Amino acid sequence: MSGASKGFAVAIAIFSFFGWMSRMDFIVHGILYRYGLQFSYEWANPYWTFTRTIYVCIALPGAASLGLLFLDVRRKVTPKRKPTFHPANRLVTVTCPSCKKRFSNALVMYDYSKGKADLVNICPYCNTVLRDKSQVN
Ligand SMILES: [Zn+2]
Repeated sequence: MSGASKGFAVAIAIFSFFGWMSRMDFIVHGILYRYGLQFSYEWANPYWTFTRTIYVCIALPGAASLGLLFLDVRRKVTPKRKPTFHPANRLVTVTCPSCKKRFSNALVMYDYSKGKADLVNICPYCNTVLRDKSQVN
């Protein structure tokens, strides 16, 4: 489930909750009076306290969830920064001693001529093995 659809589901749940709670409040403060309910602070005060507590217990985590989902969606939508060029990261060029061409990265290959695998650097133009460390960056 993506962040946007999670946010949409949380928003639907919160709006549904408040819709159903207002229906229940309408039953208590509307319909029950038609059946003889007598208003009294004795039952109204605990009723209001509990309903407001329920609202707060739902609203605070709901707002926190929507906030986190908003941040999650914004983080996914915001393009990542491309690495910036820094002179310290400049590639060192290598000059092939054989063909004299310059390149930034030598090819790396396995050399089995001594019986075991040994990584060697190769000129990408003439395939000369660059043995000297000073030849390779
Ligand atoms: Zn070369």
